[in-house]
Amino acid sequence: MTIKKITLFIFLLITLSSCDEKAKTRAKESTDNIKKPVKVAAKLFGYNLDNFKVINNKIKNGEAFGTILDHHHVWSPKIYEIAKKIKPTLDVRRLRAGKNYTILAAKDSTEQAKVFIYQHDLINYSIVDFRDSIFIKKVKKKITVKIREAAGVITNSLSQSLDEKHVSPVVANDLSDIYAWTIDFFRLQKNDKFKVLYEQKYINDTVPAGIGKIKAAYFEHVGKPFYAFNFVADSVVGVQDYFDEETNNLRRAFLKAPLKFSRISSRYNLKRRIAFYGRVKPHRGTDFTAPVGTPILSTANGKVIESRYKGGNGNYVKIRHNATYTTQYLHMKKRKVKVGEYVKQGDVIGWVGMTGNTSGPHVCYRFWKNGRQVDPLKQKLPAAKPMKKEIQEKYLSFITPIKNQLDNIPY
Ligand SMILES: [Zn+2]
Repeated sequence: MTIKKITLFIFLLITLSSCDEKAKTRAKESTDNIKKPVKVAAKLFGYNLDNFKVINNKIKNGEAFGTILDHHHVWSPKIYEIAKKIKPTLDVRRLRAGKNYTILAAKDSTEQAKVFIYQHDLINYSIVDFRDSIFIKKVKKKITVKIREAAGVITNSLSQSLDEKHVSPVVANDLSDIYAWTIDFFRLQKNDKFKVLYEQKYINDTVPAGIGKIKAAYFEHVGKPFYAFNFVADSVVGVQDYFDEETNNLRRAFLKAPLKFSRISSRYNLKRRIAFYGRVKPHRGTDFTAPVGTPILSTANGKVIESRYKGGNGNYVKIRHNATYTTQYLHMKKRKVKVGEYVKQGDVIGWVGMTGNTSGPHVCYRFWKNGRQVDPLKQKLPAAKPMKKEIQEKYLSFITPIKNQLDNIPY
């Protein structure tokens, strides 16, 4: 994931810079083909730049390795030899247009190329040295990571708030991933607040090279606090996950049923035949039978979008969990929640009854995925792995200073 992000970041950088670079290149060519040496630093990968003529450029569309070296006065048999020798490490046919390269050429009148440095991305380089014998070396620039803080109050969207603070959009994207099962990011409220501690990567301590992981975050949604701490809960697998201040995994699966104790009396069935009418009437819900007055639980965190009495449905509540999932609970004796209310997984939202069209007390549980009713028992829903008891104490002491730091970030 991180590599993907770095790549994206680099891609953006390249896209941004390639336009004016093209213009520059054209300007250069239209003059008299003399490339001015560009000094980047006194030393580059151990080469003393004072001893060379340094040429920085970008590979043009359709430009081959051979063409570049030929341009810098390396003769063809030598080019062929170089390409052949370095092929196991760097296939010169795979050099890509738009990538940066540096040529270190002789400072004398021959101006012959001696070293070719190909920049795969901001971090990875291949150095081809053909001063005497030919050799290739792959080099990675040193990456340092600094923890950065950001905080804000949402006026419009999270990405806009972060953008105003000049924080990479990657952070907004990662935050919405982390909270996907807790907060509906498409329904953020004005005055929701956030704080985040994230890793910013740097090359040579100065050049930004992408966002690392989010270390911790705090979100205040409709006045409710939601913490998230990055933690490796399973040392064997080394999988990182996000947990709240009470060790709960933020990736919450749906509860299997909206009732604690119940039995399923009728499953989701598109071909259900109704005895009385003698015709097929699909049943797109799952019926859970329980005595009148049994508490009905929200199967996941979400926002109440309907709470009313209507015809055959009787008293019902509908909850939107995120951009993908919505659930509905029918035939309640009494509803406990109002439209707009935010409920957590397991919160009581009403009580079992037999309002509407029903022959006995039960909850008809309906499950929407992307606006279509589906069978919840057949969905592959993300499994939330509870944190093992034996590491909970370690986790809590691990997050204490981080939580302090979060709490002290001003908005
Ligand atoms: Zn039903």
